[in-house]
Amino acid sequence: MEFTVSEKMQTILEMIKEFVEKELYPLEPEFFGKNFSELLPELEEKRRMVRQMELWAPLHPKEYGGMGLSLTEYALVAEALGGSPLGLYVFGCQAPDAGNIEILHKYGTPEQKEKYLRPLIEGKIRSCFSMTEVELPGSNPTWLATNAVKDGDDYVINGHKWYTSSADGSAFAIVMAETNPEASQHLRASMIIVPIGAPGFNVVRNISVMGHVGDDWPSHAEILYQNCRVPQTNRLGPEGQGFVLAQERLGPGRIHHCMRWIGICNRCFDLMCTYALKRPIAPGMQMAESPLIKAYIADSAAEILAARLMVLHTAWAIENLGVKAAMKDISLIKFFAADVLQKVIDRALQIHGGLGMTDDTPIAYFYRAERAARIYDGVDEVHKISVARRILRGYEGKKA
Ligand SMILES: Cc1cc2nc3c(=O)[nH]c(=O)nc-3n(C[C@H](O)[C@H](O)[C@H](O)COP(=O)(O)OP(=O)(O)OC[C@H]3O[C@@H](n4cnc5c(N)ncnc54)[C@H](O)[C@@H]3O)c2cc1C
Repeated sequence: MEFTVSEKMQTILEMIKEFVEKELYPLEPEFFGKNFSELLPELEEKRRMVRQMELWAPLHPKEYGGMGLSLTEYALVAEALGGSPLGLYVFGCQAPDAGNIEILHKYGTPEQKEKYLRPLIEGKIRSCFSMTEVELPGSNPTWLATNAVKDGDDYVINGHKWYTSSADGSAFAIVMAETNPEASQHLRASMIIVPIGAPGFNVVRNISVMGHVGDDWPSHAEILYQNCRVPQTNRLGPEGQGFVLAQERLGPGRIHHCMRWIGICNRCFDLMCTYALKRPIAPGMQMAESPLIKAYIADSAAEILAARLMVLHTAWAIENLGVKAAMKDISLIKFFAADVLQKVIDRALQIHGGLGMTDDTPIAYFYRAERAARIYDGVDEVHKISVARRILRGYEGKKA
């Protein structure tokens, strides 16, 4: 396994880190205090600067104007960008567009690529991914009530989804719907592109999550598909392959999330150490002198390093051995890195006392927004069960 960072990548990472600190950290108080849409003109200006530096869309294919980095290279970029909640957005590699781009690039028809993929990579439009349903468990994505029935040249979609993140302001949704109810469990659903203005695409609300309704990109919509009609040519990939495509979307996607989380951990760790050194807890005594605080710092350093190496190892395994061979590692990092993230954010908040609860630092935002890390892209329990099942399979038939 080889983790050496090339000179070129080292330069790119330094440029990104400098940009994030200089240009994005100062915007964060506005991000915490305003509607996102009010911030769009300033963010567009930052995106223009990123394009000028030729760092736009680091993950996405060169032929569409991205940098075309490898998964391991992009993992390092996601770490550098993750320190600010605005990083991925400003560099054009934010979820859920990043996953949709991968699927469109791999499975889109030439027409779908021109109409949806190109403007998505160029940052001219946004998109969303509509799989989770209100009534059925999202942790079991092969079980869907939403269906798409053929009628002439169209599909007619009916269903009730929520947590369709970033639907507000998007140009289209990729919807998971059952098209083949008679097929086996994993071959029943298809992915279908639904333009947001399509008849029967009804936004019920942006859901209030952890006290925030959100708007535009940072928002989560509840959507009713009521006889929503789109042409059958809007199907993405072969009929009945929706679940297979979703698995492909989620494998590398988990690397992106996990390395972004390591970026958040690094930011919280820096804040934790800096504050511990400057905050007195008694006359002439800094917080950092307390053995309890030293333990917080040491535990965090060990856990961040462990999670980071596990994620890089998994990125390497996906690249060199393929997604299938790396499935156990992908599940391992998903629940392990999410747990480390939660612990490090919590310790950073604790060390900051009352200040940690305010929006004067980004810690409270991370605490609120990143609790979801243990839920989206597979709940902890499902990943742990999957890991244990794979491990135990290797012991079957072995003598004690
Ligand atoms: C911030 C955020 C953003 C999201 N963005 C999107 C998006 O863009 N598009 C989209 O389609 N979805 C999105 N989701 C939805 C997410 O994918 C689901 O919430 C997730 O899959 C869990 O599904 P559920 O909420 O229905 O919980 P359920 O499946 O009902 O599970 C509830 C709980 O039951 C337990 N549980 C479940 N299964 C098992 C099991 N096998 N064994 C033991 N315990 C179990 C776990 O404790 C789990 O947390 C998002 C969610 C969040 C929080």
